[in-house]
Amino acid sequence: MRNDIQAKEMMKSIWMLTDRMGMHMTLIVGEEKALLVDTGYGFDDILSAVRKITPLPLTLILTHGHHDHACGAYQFEKAWMHPDEAPVFSLYANHWRKRVWQQATAKGLDLSDWTEEGFTGTPCQNAAFMDECEMDLGNLTVQIIHCPGHTKGSLCVYVKERALLLPGDDMNPTTWIFFPECEGLGTLIHSLEKVSLLPFSQVLCPHHDQLLPRSAFDAFLSGLSPENVKATSEPAFHLWEGKQVYACHPQPQYTLCYDYDKLPENWK
Ligand SMILES: [Zn+2]
Repeated sequence: MRNDIQAKEMMKSIWMLTDRMGMHMTLIVGEEKALLVDTGYGFDDILSAVRKITPLPLTLILTHGHHDHACGAYQFEKAWMHPDEAPVFSLYANHWRKRVWQQATAKGLDLSDWTEEGFTGTPCQNAAFMDECEMDLGNLTVQIIHCPGHTKGSLCVYVKERALLLPGDDMNPTTWIFFPECEGLGTLIHSLEKVSLLPFSQVLCPHHDQLLPRSAFDAFLSGLSPENVKATSEPAFHLWEGKQVYACHPQPQYTLCYDYDKLPENWK
């Protein structure tokens, strides 16, 4: 297994790691410990990438269990996640590995360091469960916050001394909450309101390669009003056959795709 991961220090002690599929994870390096948030698709040797940056004891947490965040969890002794995420992790990081392989080959990715059987037959069976907590990495404090929305067990991460929020897939330039395991828009808004109380000044989304200012988060959240969601929604039924999926625009440059059936009743 090669290490094709690209690493970029986004701010002091905060590294964005990008795997060969183009998926981003975040490495937070304190003075005593390091924390990796998500694993990417799992084709790359993540530990080699981390060890180029720090020799410190390393913990892995998953913002949620989707394949693009969790398929590399097999490289770690434990993959910490919220207990509500167990079924999603089990499905996506294990049973859907064949789908990930097909996606990677369709992209024309160099997988010469793998065989299909090797990748699909490498299970992630190391789920460990955590709830909201604070972690001291050594002069760097991290808060783990339960934020159901994109999935029931989604976690956001707040790095106190850097005033940085990692929102997981609860906020991206394109945010998806139409999968069966997604919560409704009302739950997502409630979670975003909860983290909005934190004094963060920048945001690092897993599907975007730049730090965003706090104002982008505030605009995203304020754009999720019933009036704006209704006014900007258009059908996106192709995203999930048999479901009423709509795409709306909380702000002009942001898209949120949601399941109409899970909208709050008084929004319909
Ligand atoms: Zn996801």
